[in-house]
Amino acid sequence: MTDLIQEIADLKKREDATILAHYYQDGEIQDLADFTGDSLKLARAATRVSTGTIVFCGVHFMAETAKMLNPEKRVLLPDLQAGCSLAESCPANKLFRYQEMLRENGRRFQTVTYINSSAAVKALSDWIVTSGNAEEIIRRVPADLEILFVPDRHLGQYLEEVTGRKMILWDGSCMVHEIFSVNDLLAMKRKMPTAITLAHPECPANIREHSDFVGGTEAMIRYVADYKEPVDFLVATEANMLWQLQSQQPQHRYHPVPGITCACNKCPHMARNTLVKLRDCLQTGKPEIHWQPEFARAREILQRSLLK
Ligand code: SF4
Repeated sequence: MTDLIQEIADLKKREDATILAHYYQDGEIQDLADFTGDSLKLARAATRVSTGTIVFCGVHFMAETAKMLNPEKRVLLPDLQAGCSLAESCPANKLFRYQEMLRENGRRFQTVTYINSSAAVKALSDWIVTSGNAEEIIRRVPADLEILFVPDRHLGQYLEEVTGRKMILWDGSCMVHEIFSVNDLLAMKRKMPTAITLAHPECPANIREHSDFVGGTEAMIRYVADYKEPVDFLVATEANMLWQLQSQQPQHRYHPVPGITCACNKCPHMARNTLVKLRDCLQTGKPEIHWQPEFARAREILQRSLLK
């Protein structure tokens, strides 16, 4: 393992590369990254990278986003098959037809798209949001227009609750956040009555309503940092997030809320990236994310949504 880590460090230098890793990557990958973060933090970090190559340890739409914001840089993704069930639940051609149908029916709306979507879907949007800035962007949409929110219906419902704004919701969801077991969560709460429950807004309402705090991963880090004395936190998001919480705020105890079908709730797409694939992609320069025609329009929307 030490040899592999040394090899990655040497290759990173040789290839003039910066490693960005999402909080849902294995701890060993987060550990050797130059930047870790949620989608918003990483998108912003990608614009400040000075090296010629970015290796994005995350899923495909994230690496695409890094490329859109850095057209002149080489962007590598350790495994090109690292997709996202949420992004896949909203194909661009289906969204385009749905928007046309709404327009034909006289509906006046703006499309607000969660960053977990393909470049082609981003290009059909008016705004792109992350769980970190969604509330603020929703409030920017003129009150006389409807909002079509895609693709996550749970995040959309949560935003309806916090902004009081009714939206047309696309029927997509994240396979990891969708399956938290409310029965297991309630059993954990009975066993640890003083524990505080944190849930990601991609979780369904039945999990959110039993939580003390709902927020994206960056917001979770800020929330636990406010507690100086040790606390038990029950965490309903992708299980690797516990590694990041543990390393930033080690005074607390973190307990993953289990899923219905599996005890750990790890994202199988994120898990496709491994240290070996990271080493290989630095060595071979592949797989690379290449510029696509739809990136230009998606880039404009991304820049005005996330970087201003
Ligand atoms: S955790 Fe869910 S939203 Fe995130 S990459 Fe995996 S499938 Fe997509």
